[in-house]
Amino acid sequence: MEKSDFSHQILDYQNVPMSSPDITGAERDAVLAVLHTPNLSMGKEIESFEKAISNYADCRQAIGVNSGTAGLHLCVRAAGIGENDLVITSPFSFVSSANVLLFEQAVPIFVDVDPVTGNIDPERVRTAAADLAAGISAAHIWLPPRGAKLDASLKAILPIDVFGQPAEMDAIKNVAQTYQLKIVEDACEALGAEYKGRKAGMLGDYGVFAFYPNKQITTGEGGCIITNDENAAMLMRSLRNQGRAPGDTWLQHTYLGYNYRLDEMSAAIGRIQMSRLEELLTRRQCVAEWYRGCLASIPGVEPPQIVASTTRVSWFVYVVRFDPAIDREHVAKRLSQCGIPSRPYFAPIHLQPYMTERFGYKEGMFPVTEALGRRSLALPFSGVMTREQVEYVCEMLSEVLSSE
Ligand SMILES: *Cc1c(COP(=O)(O)O)cnc(C)c1O
Repeated sequence: MEKSDFSHQILDYQNVPMSSPDITGAERDAVLAVLHTPNLSMGKEIESFEKAISNYADCRQAIGVNSGTAGLHLCVRAAGIGENDLVITSPFSFVSSANVLLFEQAVPIFVDVDPVTGNIDPERVRTAAADLAAGISAAHIWLPPRGAKLDASLKAILPIDVFGQPAEMDAIKNVAQTYQLKIVEDACEALGAEYKGRKAGMLGDYGVFAFYPNKQITTGEGGCIITNDENAAMLMRSLRNQGRAPGDTWLQHTYLGYNYRLDEMSAAIGRIQMSRLEELLTRRQCVAEWYRGCLASIPGVEPPQIVASTTRVSWFVYVVRFDPAIDREHVAKRLSQCGIPSRPYFAPIHLQPYMTERFGYKEGMFPVTEALGRRSLALPFSGVMTREQVEYVCEMLSEVLSSE
């Protein structure tokens, strides 16, 4: 390109997507190879993909499904969570983690989060479990304003590994043991993360990864459940496949099931992505470090903090926090005028319209979650981002903030 053309072009590094998958020729070849066979579902690719994940996570069972949400839903079924049952979880998450409880007419008991990590606060989990176990009057403060039964039983805890940092799981496990609760770990943002040297996803009874294109690895759409519970795994495999139990014929359905199967093309992409996991995680780590370096000189912007129990962070999104005095909406708008997308992360679940309608939640009920929701902004992030792109985003952010 002629030098003089520069002023008329949007430079490549100025065209930054919010997120981007990292796909190579190997993934494309693998999909094409599947398309040369007659087996587009339930073939050898799903088996290989599940094997790759169970090897990685060192678990007995890995069950590929067609979304992270589907995986969480099957865990809820396997944990025996049903109508009116109570499950302690966090309002600072993607909606799926609470929605899967509503799918079964169960009731999420939200407890507020740690202000540093955004992960569920284990002390509040302990108090909530104790109060709910002790009975009606103490339990009352933990229940939603409406839509829950006072004599319902507490069945499980559903922590989320927020933004690739595992929840404080030793303390949560301790509570689960005391009150005999199942733990469903939503590790949909945390494939590759480690908690005190242990892999995210295997920190509870069942764990779930997700493979939407913005996650650490992708299958297009997809997810995977991991567990050491063989009986639960057998049930979840049946439920994934329209409720067909082992030995059922194609038109026999022992259970009320779903079509949550992951097709062979998606599984093939996933198999290759798993073989590249270290590379993918390292690239994301590298981009996160560029961001940290560039942001250090911008006042009013806090980079993500990694706590000591996170022995390995698996970067999912890059969420910064602004000083309360900064108008986040305005910053986001100005960034978008420079061609830089950004996203508030998370909008608290308890304030979503269908949640307030069903349970009567109001603003002010989970102040830490709400404050994080107000101050946080996800910047463009992926493993294929270049250093120039990171610098451009930070330069523009710095400019916008200094002109405030
Ligand atoms: C991505 C994600 C999921 C699952 O998402 P799907 O789009 O259904 O694959 C669940 N929980 C959290 C916290 C997530 O970030």
